[in-house]
Amino acid sequence: MESGKAEEIGLNRAFIVALPSGGFRSGRRRPFPDDVARALASKENLLRLDSLDSEDRGLRDIWETLVLTGRRCTEVLSVRLECISRLNGLPLFWHDQTKVGNFDQAIRIPERLFLRIEKRQEKTVTRFIQHKGRPPTAQERLSLALFPRRPTNREGLKAVSYTWFSSSFRGWIDTLDIVSACVPHQARHTLATNLLKNGADLTHVKRYLGQISNEMAEHYVHLANTDPRLESALQALWVAGPGSAEPGILLSGGEPMTREQAEALAIDLTRQSTPADGGFCTFQPVVHGDACPWNLNCHSCDKFVMSGADLVYWHRKREQWRLLAERAPDSATADYLHEVFEPTARAIDGLEKALEAVGLLDEALALDLRRPQDYFGRVWSTAFRSQELACQQDGGEAA
Ligand code: SF4
Repeated sequence: MESGKAEEIGLNRAFIVALPSGGFRSGRRRPFPDDVARALASKENLLRLDSLDSEDRGLRDIWETLVLTGRRCTEVLSVRLECISRLNGLPLFWHDQTKVGNFDQAIRIPERLFLRIEKRQEKTVTRFIQHKGRPPTAQERLSLALFPRRPTNREGLKAVSYTWFSSSFRGWIDTLDIVSACVPHQARHTLATNLLKNGADLTHVKRYLGQISNEMAEHYVHLANTDPRLESALQALWVAGPGSAEPGILLSGGEPMTREQAEALAIDLTRQSTPADGGFCTFQPVVHGDACPWNLNCHSCDKFVMSGADLVYWHRKREQWRLLAERAPDSATADYLHEVFEPTARAIDGLEKALEAVGLLDEALALDLRRPQDYFGRVWSTAFRSQELACQQDGGEAA
């Protein structure tokens, strides 16, 4: 009506005014507020989500995939059985971005999501065997839905519907003590703003999330109002590493220490430290540039400390060890592996407790995608020897 188009085509004003709006609700472009995000990720509430899925169609698996990948709902609902694989050891999630015409796209996913989808695959295959009396062939596996719907789906090709998912999601939200209305798609906005907050640039975000409009990209940048204090708070919280006498003991809470406290600590905790794999080296000769006398064996070294920003790294390590132990050929080997990893497990527990005590645990866990280099490896992993670069430079100048 405003543009004059209605008049031009002779559309009756009364008809336009009477037409229902289509139920647009504001807030769909917003990331989840912190309290809602916490509620939607809490273990207890996720168990409740599980319990709503009486036929075990994968309600929680779909939700966790949405949260961890930031895909559109339909992209996740419609994935096929063979939607995960490993490439050079990295877990990947394969899907079609039908809305923007990108098919068979892969993104890297966290290990725990990979394992969750593997379990879902097993359930879907079991269901297929119950119906058909035989496992699916390799060819059938390519076309089977990972989340098959129940009605009119003898071949298992049709996926659960968006209506089923969104109404189940709404049913779940209604059972939670959440003030704001929320929709699953907000998980995508939450991931986008978290990526930006944690150091990814817009190119990374666009690449990870698939195509996003310029308008949406600007919206994300505007929202990702980073709080540099958070990062430094996480970095300032240190616990003793697995190689120390007391793994997991809190060394620094980001607060100034008393002289007595400082003297009681075995490790020199001046702020001078240097980054190491999964934490910091506090051995001053190394910090000041000397070679490491222990051949960089940091995880067994008592000079190594872990910060709040390294929690997710250690979670991944714990998962790897757990898998290793699970796959051990006998229980003696599994026990041995558990024993070897025990100091590290204690250090991780200590780190979690320390983070929880200062209210930073959620933020530390939310740093899952904090390192864009994990996802967009080439830029970060393409390195050159500085000497060779210098030679090139000399050669260039000589030429
Ligand atoms: S092994 Fe110990 S001293 Fe050497 S770099 Fe690692 S933490 Fe520092």
